[in-house]
This record gives sequence, structure tokens and C-alpha cells, in this order.
Amino acid sequence: MTSDETFDESCLFCKIVAGQIPADVVHTGERTVAFRDIAPKAPLHVLVVPREHQPNAAAIAASNPAATADLITVAREVAIAEGYDDYRLVFNTGAGAGQTVFHAHVHLLAGGDLPFAAG
Ligand code: AMP
Repeated sequence: MTSDETFDESCLFCKIVAGQIPADVVHTGERTVAFRDIAPKAPLHVLVVPREHQPNAAAIAASNPAATADLITVAREVAIAEGYDDYRLVFNTGAGAGQTVFHAHVHLLAGGDLPFAAG
């Protein structure tokens, strides 16, 4: 399935991926786009999103495993490029877990006291 086939007019991240809404883009790839979070929670806070619209991480994993793997490999590449060897990845899934944009994305966080610690 291509991003064109899944484009959702009402989705903020589809519009950023399509270049219809500006963002501070740090990576563009065949299957993913990465841009800085508009309200950063850490010195480095980047969102890596698949071009294909799916509502959450589990849905993109079922639909497009290659794009899902790219979320993780691109996050690492961006972290290294920004000077961070250590970083945290967060997938919020569902409003009850803090998801506000229902287009799959991973938060890449690095530097300082990182939020969303699980351990
Ligand atoms: P989540 O709460 O996991 O759905 O994450 C959505 C994230 O998107 C939040 O951290 C927001 O700060 C971020 N966000 C919302 N609008 C924009 C935007 N126009 N550009 C970049 N990040 C955004």
C-alpha cells in the first residue's frame, strides 16, 4: 500500500508528509519522514512517521513491516546525526496513553532528563 492510497485529508501528519503543512524536517526517506516535535519534551525530540497513513504503531506493523522497521533505524540515524548515542523511543497508542495524533509515529527523545521513563 502506498502513502497516496492511504492519504487522509483530516490527518496532520499526512499533510506534513505531503509538504502541505510546514515542519522542521530532518530526514526524508522512501517510507518515512522525520521532523522536530513542535513542543519538544527533551533537547532532541523528533517524530519519525511512516508515509503510509495508519492510526498507530501496531497498525503500521501489520500493514507495512518495512516501514515499521524504518521508524527504528531512521530514529537511530537521526539520533547519531544529532550527536546522541543514547536515546529513548516512545510509541503512544490510544488516547488513554497520550496519543493525540492518530497517524503512527515514534517519538525520538535524547539529552537531559528524558520523560516517559518506564523503568
Ligand atoms: P502523540 O501525543 O504521541 O500523538 O504525539 C503527537 C506529537 O505531535 C506531540 O508531541 C505534539 O507536540 C506533536 N505535534 C503536534 N502538531 C505538530 C506539528 N505541527 N509539528 C510537529 N509536531 C507536532
